Amino acid sequence: MNINCLEGMVCPKCGNEGPFDIVGTTTFRVSDNGVEDYEGAEWEDTSFCACPECHHNATVGAFKSPETVDQV
Ligand SMILES: [Zn+2]
Repeated sequence: MNINCLEGMVCPKCGNEGPFDIVGTTTFRVSDNGVEDYEGAEWEDTSFCACPECHHNATVGAFKSPETVDQV
């Protein structure tokens, strides 16, 4: 049961509760020496999300709808 960053998220295909591969946006502070710090990873319901367990690809929104899990 996810109650923090992945609240309510579950793979709609295999039921895995994460971790997931989510494509979001992050602000990096970069100097001439490289990346110094970063924070504020953000993603939306329309962001790409993949389940590393079954390789199901969908959107974050789709992973928040456990009622779509196949009942077998
Ligand atoms: Zn899965």
